[in-house]
Order: sequence, then C-alpha cells, then structure tokens
Amino acid sequence: MPTALPRKSPRQLARARRLLAALKRRYPDAHCELDWREPHELLVATILSAQSTDVGVNRATPGLFKAFPRPSDYAAAGAAAIEPHVRTLNFWRNKARSVHESMQALCDRFEGQVPRTMEELLTLRGVARKTANVVLGNAFGLQEGVVVDTHVGRLARRMGLSRHEDPAKVERDLMALFPRKDWCLLSHLLIFHGRRACRARGGRCAEDPICLAFCAEARLSSRGPAAPRRRRAPARPRPSRRTG
Ligand code: SF4
Repeated sequence: MPTALPRKSPRQLARARRLLAALKRRYPDAHCELDWREPHELLVATILSAQSTDVGVNRATPGLFKAFPRPSDYAAAGAAAIEPHVRTLNFWRNKARSVHESMQALCDRFEGQVPRTMEELLTLRGVARKTANVVLGNAFGLQEGVVVDTHVGRLARRMGLSRHEDPAKVERDLMALFPRKDWCLLSHLLIFHGRRACRARGGRCAEDPICLAFCAEARLSSRGPAAPRRRRAPARPRPSRRTG
C-alpha cells in the first residue's frame, strides 16, 4: 500500500471528528466480538471469520482452542484433524488448511509467536490486510490500518466517508480522515453501528440520531413519502391583442 493517503479538506476532517465522538458516546463498550485469549487464537478466529459470522466462529472456537492449545499443536496435527472443529463454517476445508499452514509458519519462521508487522503477517496463508489489522490492533495495540469488513465498507459509503467499493481504497480514505490512535476502535464502532442500526437491508434510517446527523439516507427517509405533485391548472387563453 502506498504511504501517501488521500488529502481531506478541513471540513471533511471536522465532520469525521464529530462522527467519531458521536460513535464513542453511543458505543462506549465497542470491542472485537471474536472470543480469544492468546494472539494466535485471535489470528485463528479471524481467519475463520471470513464469510462467517462472529457468533458462528465463537461457537466453533472453544472446542478448537481446547483441542489445539498452542500453534505447534495445529502444526503437528495437520488440516484433516482441524476440519471437524470448523465444519459448521463456510469454506471449512479451505479454512482448516489456512489455519494449519499459518500455525506451521509461526512455528517454522516466527518461533511460535504471532508476528507484529503487517509485512510478516501478510506472508501467512489466509491472512490479508483485514485479518492482519484485526490482529495487530486488538492483540498488540498497533494501529497499522483500519479493518474494512462489509459493515465498515457499507457505512463508509453511506455516510459519505468514501465513495469506493474496493476495501483497500475505503481503508485509505478512513485512515486519512480519522486519527491514527483511533483506527482500531473506529472499525469496532462502525461494526457496532452496522450490526445494531445499519443493516445491509433496511437500516433504521430516520430513527437513529447518528444516522440523522451523518447519513444522507436518513435525511431522505425522514422526509417521508414525497407529497403528490399538484396538477397545474390549464393556462387561460390570453386575450388577443388587436394590432393596427
Ligand atoms: S441512515 Fe440508514 S443507511 Fe445511513 S447509516 Fe443509518 S441506518 Fe445506515
């Protein structure tokens, strides 16, 4: 990712600050909703969460974490032994392989520890920027970027924070708009709002104060159905002017 972020106007930055403050007031307990205790457990849970809900992952991981307490246990076991624990999740076969290979890489290249840089994390199977940002931000408190999942992308577009569909471009817009110290928290706040107010289909537009203040959709829906247009009365014929 290039280092230069898109330039934002003072007005855009001030609006972003106000939105962040409102989200912090509204969701003071916003946090990562995946269950984990050790950094490698967060890495495993985040790999498993692609195209699956956090609730579904949290149902699968207690048994998985008990069966494989350390990265070396996954590495020694192989993907086939991991599969039965993740079978309830989408793409379970592929995810079991990613978990196995990433844990093996931890043992082979990182002394059994989760690496703390974006560059190193991206070398692991099943790890893209989103997963790496989750791990760096939540396990180590390192603000390297903003997690852009479906909720964050949708809200960023609806709230006018980004016009892009590509998560990498949305992330760069958010990084440019919000203070670095808040990048990890920002994604939790947007995900909380996305799960509680702004669903993909049918958000609580026009009911929610944050929506009303920051989203054009809310202002549109608060106007209610458009009033029927009055038909114009037919123009009266003008008296003809006599000339000559
Ligand atoms: S106004 Fe509607 S579309 Fe906009 S953020 Fe709120 S719920 Fe989502």
